[in-house]
Amino acid sequence: MTRKGKAFPEMEHEVDFCVVGGGMAGVCAALAAARHGAKVALMHDRPVLGGNASSECRVHISGADIHNHHPHMRETGILEELRLENLRRNPQRSFSVWDLILYEKLKAEPNLTLLLNCSCLDAAMEGGRIASVTGWQLTTQTRHTVRASVFADCSGDAVLAPLTGANFRVGHEARAEFSESIAPETADDRTMGMTCLFQARQYDSPQPFEPPDWIRRFDSEDELPYGADGHRWWEMGYWWVELGGEHDSIRDTELLRDELLKIALGVWDHVKNRGDHGADRWALEWLQFLPAKRESRRYVGEHVLTQNDIASGGRFDDLVAYGGWTMDDHHPAGFRAAKLGYPATIFHPAPVPYGIPYRSLCSKNVENLMFAGRCASCTHVAMSSTRVMGTGSVMGQAVGAAAALAARLGLSPAEIMGRIRELQQTLLEDDCYLPWVVEELSVLTKSARLVTSRGSGEPLRDGIRRQVGSDPHAWVARPGDHAAYLFDSPQRLRRVTLVLDSAMDKLIQMSYHQADDALTAPPAVTPRAFRIQSLSGNSWRDVSRVADNYQRLVRLSVDLVTQGIRFVLDETWGAPDSRVYAFYLA
Ligand SMILES: Cc1cc2nc3c(=O)[nH]c(=O)nc-3n(C[C@H](O)[C@H](O)[C@H](O)COP(=O)(O)OP(=O)(O)OC[C@H]3O[C@@H](n4cnc5c(N)ncnc54)[C@H](O)[C@@H]3O)c2cc1C
Repeated sequence: MTRKGKAFPEMEHEVDFCVVGGGMAGVCAALAAARHGAKVALMHDRPVLGGNASSECRVHISGADIHNHHPHMRETGILEELRLENLRRNPQRSFSVWDLILYEKLKAEPNLTLLLNCSCLDAAMEGGRIASVTGWQLTTQTRHTVRASVFADCSGDAVLAPLTGANFRVGHEARAEFSESIAPETADDRTMGMTCLFQARQYDSPQPFEPPDWIRRFDSEDELPYGADGHRWWEMGYWWVELGGEHDSIRDTELLRDELLKIALGVWDHVKNRGDHGADRWALEWLQFLPAKRESRRYVGEHVLTQNDIASGGRFDDLVAYGGWTMDDHHPAGFRAAKLGYPATIFHPAPVPYGIPYRSLCSKNVENLMFAGRCASCTHVAMSSTRVMGTGSVMGQAVGAAAALAARLGLSPAEIMGRIRELQQTLLEDDCYLPWVVEELSVLTKSARLVTSRGSGEPLRDGIRRQVGSDPHAWVARPGDHAAYLFDSPQRLRRVTLVLDSAMDKLIQMSYHQADDALTAPPAVTPRAFRIQSLSGNSWRDVSRVADNYQRLVRLSVDLVTQGIRFVLDETWGAPDSRVYAFYLA
């Protein structure tokens, strides 16, 4: 509805679930909720989605597998779907193509309203609940007000905290508050800083770089953190060009951007002009003008995740997400830390995986507010691990699935605690991994006779969809192999679900670190072509034929009454065999 007569138009939207902030956490939250039938609005202040992982910032998405140092631990669910799409369509690793994939995925959801270039700046409360949020859309000079029953703040900076009175924290907790051995003795409001990256490209001829006179100058190697070894690559800039931890990491952002550009360009000037780095033919291709942030406000939820929760593995009954990244605690002095005699960061080990509870994603004092990503309810120490975007993505998916359930049942986010098993099973069905939680399969799947052309097919219905420890939890197939469920009497089938091989032991992270071993095409082990067949008398007939698959989770709608159903692998993307992690029926 558009109102006339005001200086600027105002638009109102009525949805079930409103997400503020379209970083990876927000994208996954919005997609999960929309796919579960909720009417969703995503209000995002930039033209491109993905937050720090967008083309505006170009930070690679890390998670529990720590760049595949822990194979089979990477995040599946929506993030895996996005990354597999990216492998298929973006062999050049262009961040703009990645932007496009995120945009298309959200646009493809019919019940999702995407409000880009729209910065949330107001909220209206009714009692202890948020009634609506309002944002200013820069491109259309329009105020958008979104009313919803559940809201999720995935803005990184927890913009809804000051707008709604939701409890939040900034900075370090004192060691004694949560008995965190790596927290400082006294609390302070210092945070991790923000960074401006750059990207350079190699040309055929020498490329001079004339330094502007306003940038920093670093004549010798030891003026830079990590000395000569710290700036040997030029494709993705340096995370240690970091400032802001000793400032206000929200209000001082513009000032810090100016300082970060001086340092980033100073480092580039050092590489090009101060000593022989072998970079003669390299030139700047891109410079980050929007600083990427690491830390600002963190909400206080029903549970505050701590160092000890992480260290002890986080075996919460209400586990809905997981992490595994180290507690990677950057020094607040950032770029200046080395000069002061401190490491720029310390990687305190964390178990891989550890669980994250649902209660850390729900506000303690605002009834219908949830959150995911770096503003989730964690101590500073715990957040130094959970902040990575793979972990934020799975938190976001859990929040979206929970919000859709809450909207469907007319419950508040806190009341979903009473249906946590249902939420966990929904997430497992959507191919999220919840360590120590096993998927409950249909009686139809479990009671059928399972017959395979090779080996035991039982891992197909063991409720675990990835290798855990040394157990692959998979049936290994070669092209031509089949696995069939046979029934004593004809059964009605509506859906067949397959969880296929997407090389969980390979790196599929998109990164400008071109020296890495990340894949840039669909994994060779992934089934490219396969069929689903139904048993009719004594013969099998095709009910579904897939010719160009590149996804791990495949759900096929069918409408059949049959005595048997089988999966036939026709072709992989090149490997002689392929793992099938799940094949089940509904
Ligand atoms: C230099 C650097 C290197 C890093 N390295 C890694 C790494 O290798 N791997 C990794 O996974 N993580 C890394 N991190 C950490 C990670 O990028 C952040 O913790 C992460 O971005 C958190 O994700 P998020 O979705 O919570 O927030 P964000 O990515 O910040 O997304 C939040 C989005 O919300 C939008 N938003 C903010 N306010 C509003 C508003 N008022 N209205 C509407 N929208 C709003 C923002 O524009 C933003 O796009 C790094 C961070 C930095 C700075």
